[in-house]
Amino acid sequence: MTYAQIWQPLVEELACLQRAGSKAEFWLRDDDAVDPTPALDRLLDLTGEFAVPVTLAVIPALTDEKLVVRLHEAPHATVAIHGWAHRNHAPEGHKKQELGAHRPREAVLDDLARGLSHVTGLHGARAVPMLVPPWNRIDAGFVSDLVSAGFEALSVYGPPKQASLAVINSNVDIMDWHGTRRCRDHGLLVQDIIAQLQHAFDGGEPVGLLTHHLVHDESAWLFLERLFAVTARNEACVWLPIKTLIGRGAGKGK
Ligand SMILES: [Zn+2]
Repeated sequence: MTYAQIWQPLVEELACLQRAGSKAEFWLRDDDAVDPTPALDRLLDLTGEFAVPVTLAVIPALTDEKLVVRLHEAPHATVAIHGWAHRNHAPEGHKKQELGAHRPREAVLDDLARGLSHVTGLHGARAVPMLVPPWNRIDAGFVSDLVSAGFEALSVYGPPKQASLAVINSNVDIMDWHGTRRCRDHGLLVQDIIAQLQHAFDGGEPVGLLTHHLVHDESAWLFLERLFAVTARNEACVWLPIKTLIGRGAGKGK
């Protein structure tokens, strides 16, 4: 399939939304930032070029001033709290979790409070009090404690569950984690985006694109560039800053 054939269904869907007077809403979450790297430069340059706001889920225990300085040149970047150290506490053979029920409650809540205060202390107003649990997993028993720990929003992956704070989930992951560990097929990603747009049109959540700049292959970068080319200057689309979504309390009470 050619580039045009792969993207035509999305182009048509957007034209359809425009005729209906509707707007396609997108937001971008990129995980695992710690330090300035060439891959982070590439992400910030690409999103900057298309004026796409990006929310970086930063690993608190591993990051410092170097990232703060780099982001001074990236006004379109916001930072969120990616757990504490991205350390797995689940036993061998279980799904990886830093924020599971494997440790005493106080230890997990201490990690979360420390993560929030470290990232907010470093990044100031650029930081949003949103928790992005490593591996998109958090024990359900901790979610009700997030507000008292200072968080206003939670972001995992998939359909949002009811919670006492805003739940702003990602729902289209560009990487094939369980197979090739490269970018997924572009045609299938376009289909997933269209399905999510139709769900959003029926009162569902915006398209929450999930990326991991440190492991992108060339196909992943190409996908992002083409997606931005189709959407970022299209009147039927808007790429929302995370603060707008937190302000709406997206997903809360569903
Ligand atoms: Zn991660």
